[in-house]
Amino acid sequence: MAIAEEIKKPHVAFLPSPGMGHITPLFEFAKRLVINHNFHVSFFVITTNASTAQNELFRPDNLPSDFHVIEIPPVENMSSFFTDDMRVLTQLAIIVRESLKHLPSLLMTHRPKALIIDLFCTDAFEICEKLEIPVYSFFTASTILMMFSLYLPTLDREVEGEFVDLPEPIQTPGCNPICPHDVLDQVKDRKNEEYKWYLLHVSRLPLAAGIFVNSWDDLEPVSLKALKENLFFQNIPVPPIHAIGPLIKQDEVITEKGAEILAWLDNQPPDSVLFVVFGSGGTLTSEQLTELAWGLEISQQRFILVARMPSDASASAAFFNVGSDENDPLLYLPEGFVKKTEGRGLVVPSWAPQVAILNHPSTGAFLSHCGWNSTLESIAHGVPMIAWPLYAEQRMNATILAEEVGVAMKFPVVPCEELISQKEIEKVVRIVMEGEKGKAMRRRGKELKESAKIALSKGGSSYESLCSVVQFWKSQ
Ligand code: UDP
Repeated sequence: MAIAEEIKKPHVAFLPSPGMGHITPLFEFAKRLVINHNFHVSFFVITTNASTAQNELFRPDNLPSDFHVIEIPPVENMSSFFTDDMRVLTQLAIIVRESLKHLPSLLMTHRPKALIIDLFCTDAFEICEKLEIPVYSFFTASTILMMFSLYLPTLDREVEGEFVDLPEPIQTPGCNPICPHDVLDQVKDRKNEEYKWYLLHVSRLPLAAGIFVNSWDDLEPVSLKALKENLFFQNIPVPPIHAIGPLIKQDEVITEKGAEILAWLDNQPPDSVLFVVFGSGGTLTSEQLTELAWGLEISQQRFILVARMPSDASASAAFFNVGSDENDPLLYLPEGFVKKTEGRGLVVPSWAPQVAILNHPSTGAFLSHCGWNSTLESIAHGVPMIAWPLYAEQRMNATILAEEVGVAMKFPVVPCEELISQKEIEKVVRIVMEGEKGKAMRRRGKELKESAKIALSKGGSSYESLCSVVQFWKSQ
């Protein structure tokens, strides 16, 4: 395309923090602006130990023209900033802080009309203020978490001690109460550095020119209503909110390995396969992985298990090397498991094409860590879930999905805190795959799938919400 023509198109830039859960929804948003609204996009990528999954996403043949991936130079000597006991969010916040030292010069070169960031890139507010570039925030988790986060500075002032020790549920204004035990890990220990980072970033959210949320009215009616109407949020004041979800992966890159998985699914009966994966970076302890494997075996259900090297130290051990953990599951899955489940179960190391699997008619349920992207992908395809939250805000998501939305079933014990036995796993898997409760969840899933489709199509709430911002950018 002629450069002059390209320049005439409205140009916006995106800046996600590392991690597939942050990159993927911003990537989809950016792609839609290019494909559906004729924009030109600069997509800034913070360089980490780039994962296989990330490299696949940015493969040139996966990108439309007018979509430019710009790598922010890697931070030299990054490891010197880290200590052994540093939690993932602190590491992530430091990587972002150091990487954004390059942002002013990049923005001066590319000069977008607006910059869209995710929660952990809020240093961009100060940088962009000087350059007079409006910054929008894209909140990549649930609306209720965003509202809790907007309320957090108040809680921080008013509550003494730890939130988890509060005797009553936490009442974010206008929202459904949150059980203190379910609050996100990052705010559970207020003395830890990661709490300070989280608080810093969320306290800057009101500086945004607008906030995009990956949700829609039928999924989070109470929260979205409270955002518009509750006085607490009006007084902050919260910037204009644009609910544009569910924004999920559309055209997944299917590798040769992925095609084999889909071919295996083609040969299974409808709704018969349980898909098991713990997000992009989730891992289990070796003891828990063994129980899960035998639980699947004795349930006698068909399954796809995305296997990762177990870690007894962290539930997010694969976060920074997503999909790169090319290991041999035979080395860590219990002896005899793969042989015993041959034909009925498929074990895939590290990574699988999740959206294509959820979209396949043979997939009957999804055992998931309930990350927000996985949640939306499951709902948008009408697949019921077995909730196995591991870290971050996933316990909150699991509770909402099970108790409010009606598309998930939780275990009676909390994963990561207690071992879930193979017997318990067998029981829950059978209920969801074969039982009446499973059928009711599947029906609810199909309703929400339909509602998501309507929200995203012309005249629908998410479609119109995005169009109004697009029109505004075009008119600038
Ligand atoms: N994902 C995938 N294949 C896998 C594991 C994960 O494609 O084997 C994708 C999944 O489709 C989703 C993202 O990774 O888009 C995970 O994001 P989520 O917010 O669910 O969890 P996080 O990884 O951020 O904890």
